[in-house]
Formats: sequence, C-alpha cells, structure tokens
Amino acid sequence: MNIIIGKNSGFCAGVKYTINKTEEELNKTNGTVDCLGELIHNKQVVDSLESKGLRVIDSIDEAENKVIIRAHGISKNIYETAKIRKIKLVDLTCPKVLRIHKQVEDFSKDNYFIFLFGIKNHPETIGTFSFCGNNSYLLESKEDIDNAILSFKSSGLKDLLIISQTTFSLSLFDEMTSIISDILAPDYNIHIEKSICNATSLRQLETEELSSKVDLMIIIGGKNSSNTKKLYEVALKNCKNVVHIQTKEDLDLDFVKTFENIGIMAGASTPDYIIDDVYNAIKQ
Ligand code: SF4
Repeated sequence: MNIIIGKNSGFCAGVKYTINKTEEELNKTNGTVDCLGELIHNKQVVDSLESKGLRVIDSIDEAENKVIIRAHGISKNIYETAKIRKIKLVDLTCPKVLRIHKQVEDFSKDNYFIFLFGIKNHPETIGTFSFCGNNSYLLESKEDIDNAILSFKSSGLKDLLIISQTTFSLSLFDEMTSIISDILAPDYNIHIEKSICNATSLRQLETEELSSKVDLMIIIGGKNSSNTKKLYEVALKNCKNVVHIQTKEDLDLDFVKTFENIGIMAGASTPDYIIDDVYNAIKQ
C-alpha cells in the first residue's frame, strides 16, 4: 500500500498564529478569556482550549472577559459594539482577511460596486461583506450572477470590484469572473482582486494533483470547515473514492484496506497529530 500525505496539509500560518496567541492569553489571564465563536473549525483543538479556560460565546453581548477575535474576522458593527461597551478585544483576524476588509472599504469609497464571492453564512464572508457598503452583492455560486448584475446595473455605477473569501474555490472564482467579464466588458470597468489565500490555493492545487494519482483520497478536517469542504469537492472531480473525516475514528479501515494508492490531504484547521493518527491507523 502506498500512502501519500499532501505537503500542504494542515495548519496554515494564520491558524498557527491564532492558536499560539490564544494560549498566551490563557496563560496571562489564568484562563479567563472569551472567544467569539469557535476559534477554529476543529473540535479537538477547541475542546483542548476550552479545558484550559477558553469560553466560547456566540454574541459580543455575552462577553464577560477579554474577547478573542478569531482568524475569520468580524463585522464592523461588532467592533462598534465592543467600543461602546468598552470590551477589550484581542484581535487575531488573519492579516490576509484584514487586507480584504481594507480593500473593499477603499474601493467602496471610490464608488466601486463590489461583488464578493463567498459562502453566504460563513463568518469570514459575513465580516467582509459588512465592510463592502450598500453598493455590493454577495455571490456564492454561478446561480447568483444574474441577480448580482441586475443589482450592479441598477446602482448606476460604472466600476466593479470582484473579490472573494480567502478560502473560495480557485476554479469557481475563475469561472464566475470570466462569465461576469463576458457580460459586462467593455461597457463597465472591472477590477479583479484574486484574494484567495496562498495557503488555500496551494492546498487546492495539490489536492487536484494528488487525487488524480490515487484510488482513494482521504480529506481530513472539520465538518464546518469551508476550506476542507472545498478540498473534498476538488478531490471528487478527479477521484471516484473520496472520504471526508474529522479524525481516525471516522475511518472505515475495512474499506480503506481495499485500495492500493491512498492520498491524504487536511484542511487549514487540522493539527499534525490528527494527520499522523490517520496515517498510522492505515499503515497498521
Ligand atoms: S487560510 Fe489563509 S487567510 Fe485563512 S487563516 Fe489561514 S493564512 Fe489566514
């Protein structure tokens, strides 16, 4: 049996930084820190931080301590509420997400209409969309393009920014951008910002390559993790047998045993020890 683990598997720089900083805060405060939403989409990591005192809250109104803002970032109104209520924030929004917030705000001030590509109920998208201003439209799939264009045209604006969530699908970004450009150019000015994070792009490209070489592809990551779901979709395009698991316990080893060549790829919120556990379980 041949098992290949993708080189770009697991924690990205943003997630590593977030976890380290949260642990530092927990040490400094003897475990009295709140976190707005689960820090990352990985149950095992969240459970471990909770056991050290991290309290996950669903709304800023529940804050009792310093509040950690996770890598996904937050909406403009949450910053405003925290300021009014004098809640101290430990802002661990990934710099790549903050950059997108600044870009959409700047383009909006310059009278651009904004098309934001992203998963509609994802915290990062909700946060970024709040910085886009009124002249904006959130698109999750090709089905949203017609309404987005109607909304843009009815705004009377001539300039359009296309930008996306950091973990959006690379291929879908290109496809949607090309459809929109075909409809609007040359009558409108379109500025395209390929804001998909490098860590995400590399992981998706490697998953594409690896899944075309193996008989079974195992994708490890949280069930709510947007970047992990994308990896699963990318792998399915090239490989008939793809499974999405969170830990080794989810693996059907009798099924796995029937394959010769197995590829493993893990999302940005998956710690190395979970990847190693899966690898060792298969090897044994
Ligand atoms: S995937 Fe990219 S944007 Fe998201 S936290 Fe990691 S480094 Fe930051």
